[in-house]
Amino acid sequence: MTIIDVVDLKKYFTLSTPILEMETGVVKAVNGISFHINHGETLGLVGESGSGKTTTGKLILRLLKPTAGKILLEGRDISKISDREFRAIRKDLQVVFQNPYASLDPKMTIQDILTQPLTIHKIVQPLEYSKEVVRLLNLVGLSKKDANRFPHEFSGGQRQRIGIARAISTKPKFIVCDEPVSALDVSIQSQILNLMMDLQREFKLSYLFIAHGLNVIKHVSNRVAVMYLGKIVEVGNAETIFNTPKHPYTKALISASPIPDPDIKRERIILKDEIPSPINIPTGCTFHTRCAECMDICRSNEPELQGLDEHQIACHLVNF
Ligand code: SF4
Repeated sequence: MTIIDVVDLKKYFTLSTPILEMETGVVKAVNGISFHINHGETLGLVGESGSGKTTTGKLILRLLKPTAGKILLEGRDISKISDREFRAIRKDLQVVFQNPYASLDPKMTIQDILTQPLTIHKIVQPLEYSKEVVRLLNLVGLSKKDANRFPHEFSGGQRQRIGIARAISTKPKFIVCDEPVSALDVSIQSQILNLMMDLQREFKLSYLFIAHGLNVIKHVSNRVAVMYLGKIVEVGNAETIFNTPKHPYTKALISASPIPDPDIKRERIILKDEIPSPINIPTGCTFHTRCAECMDICRSNEPELQGLDEHQIACHLVNF
């Protein structure tokens, strides 16, 4: 059963000159994507900077208004409901941000940071706040004595634990994890990822896990969607995507991710040029300007995402 269904979602930003107030271009940050997330699973969303991953997360959290499309939470289109209706279900959707340094108010104690969502969403009675804060701290590997400290007294990994405690404080169903470990030392990353997976099992959480590196995505995801210039170019079960990638862009991303075993060698696929600007999206297959396997048809005809639910690809090379 799905918790999130995204249907033909688009987000365009209009650019204009401040003086003449003239439109100078349109950034197609998210350009017609559809995917689903099942209850209790993690969908890894991967792609380079500028692919539209973070915008997708913000659209699901209603931090941005879509240009078109639907976002269904357990079948209900949350992009169309009023702010008042959304406030009632806001506690079901939470977020863990990339930067644990910027996402916690430096003037608030951890007790206050964790009490805030309990108060707003009436999760427990006021008399229970302190006990609940200690429970949340224990769940993320911190202790009661940490409640009266300030964010600057913690390491990056500990701050991200506090960010996770805040996210689970409202007993959410679904969490957008926006590059939650990319600002942390590699030695700390796996501890935080393991904590997130333990909490997922314990509380049956569903995650949209956004990352630009496939090694992190591989560690946590049940399914993976690969984004390029606002579109999903390949999506499927994590094992299928990593073992038998079909899209040339996915193959290039996988070839660039480090292999822990030094005896295993893998040929690196170097992509030419940078990702094009989303203001000026190439015609046909948007990846054709960088694809070593580009054919004539790729420059004019845009390939559709096709295949079975377990594995879908948008590429003219793949026959279905
Ligand atoms: Fe490359 Fe063509 Fe496939 Fe696009 S459709 S990824 S250009 S082969």
